[in-house]
Amino acid sequence: MKTIIEPFKIKSVEPIRFTTKDERIDILKHAGYNPFLIRADDVLIDLLTDSGTSAMSSKQWAGIMDGDESYAGSRSFYKFELAVKKITGMKFIIPTHQGRAAEKILFSITGGKGKYFPNNTHFDTTRANIEFSGAEAVDLLNETGKHPELRADFKGNMDVEKLEEFIKNTGKENIPFCMITITNNSGGGQPVSMKNIRDTKEICNKYGIPLILDACRFAENAYFIKKREPGYSNKSALEIAQEMFSYSDGVTMSAKKDALVNIGGFLALNDESLAMKCRNLLIVTEGFPTYGGLAGRDLEAIAQGLEEILDEHYLEYRIRSIEYLGERLVDAGVPIIEPPGGHAIYLDAKRFLSHISPEEFPGQSIVAALYIEGGIRSVEIGSVMFGKYDKNGKLIPPPMELVRLAVPRRVYTQSHIDYVLEIIIEVFKRRNSLKGYKIIYEAPMLRHFTARFEEIS
Ligand SMILES: *Cc1c(COP(=O)(O)O)cnc(C)c1O
Repeated sequence: MKTIIEPFKIKSVEPIRFTTKDERIDILKHAGYNPFLIRADDVLIDLLTDSGTSAMSSKQWAGIMDGDESYAGSRSFYKFELAVKKITGMKFIIPTHQGRAAEKILFSITGGKGKYFPNNTHFDTTRANIEFSGAEAVDLLNETGKHPELRADFKGNMDVEKLEEFIKNTGKENIPFCMITITNNSGGGQPVSMKNIRDTKEICNKYGIPLILDACRFAENAYFIKKREPGYSNKSALEIAQEMFSYSDGVTMSAKKDALVNIGGFLALNDESLAMKCRNLLIVTEGFPTYGGLAGRDLEAIAQGLEEILDEHYLEYRIRSIEYLGERLVDAGVPIIEPPGGHAIYLDAKRFLSHISPEEFPGQSIVAALYIEGGIRSVEIGSVMFGKYDKNGKLIPPPMELVRLAVPRRVYTQSHIDYVLEIIIEVFKRRNSLKGYKIIYEAPMLRHFTARFEEIS
């Protein structure tokens, strides 16, 4: 087999700034050992997130120039609407400024006290918007998805038996709709099978509950189905995506992921009366229904991005480049969530730094070491992000201590990734010298964004 190459050539470049190790030690100390508090100019390879960090194509940039900025009935809206309808088949397409705005609108209308929303795993903003409405967010991930070291094809699947049990116990009247997140971002970017989407829909139908897809990475999910699920190898990514959406009644989407843009999102629905309520709220909080918090040029770029994301040369390169990073790490003995997901590699900090307990934040220690060693920015997803305290102020750690390396779309080349590999392996070799951290400042909510740390000597 031939090398899978980047399916694009580079027309415009953005220099990255090199720093010395001594400079980075200083920068990180001033940032309280929190990568969110570092200036992006001081980062060499930025793997903090794949959200809104994609490189746009020359056609998308051409669309930016061509965008129609009319307040109402913009030409760019109709192009965007057509692109979303072609893939999702939904009747009502509502643009929003990003994914969480679509969530805010949907849950403001359907949520509230006494309501429950099951999902394979809610993303943080989804959970926050549900809880903000007074409702409860419930995760019903299948068992294999909870074990980082287990290899399986579709670790993002919903546990359909648990779902049915949950519906029976909770009462269908208390469940405005069920969700599936594709791919499962919070669970390692793991895909969901077509069979699982179909089975979930069947159970939902049995109880008259609509199904909504959180579809941020729908194209990556479609490609995993093509590669892994029997019966799909000869179908196009578009056909697979269309089939996935055919089992759903609505879609929330952050276009900052699989629409290859820097800002944008949408809500798509089949139910007319719900769509009307959402549009009315949209006018209050986002804007007129033909722009919804975006500029006409943004809608133009999303329409083009949705076309490009389903190109199978792109998807092959995308999934393979993450898998390549994962394979090399496994070969070097570095513990990761296996198999690699679609948009990121997750280092298993518990096994990586077995001498550091969750109370001393092993993930944060790796994040600091990757920055100091090579100027790489990553993010802790463990006790810093999700840890809670009990009555006595003792940490209640989440089940996993992870470090996420999210790869922006079309931004870095293979040599960047090879460099990342070298740095991770270097840090792994001297892992026994790494120390734990303690928090010296934290905000009452979402502390990971602003917390400050000190190394424990
Ligand atoms: C990013 C993301 C969201 C929220 O989208 P934003 O554009 O960041 O507001 C919701 N769900 C999932 C699965 C995501 O990855």
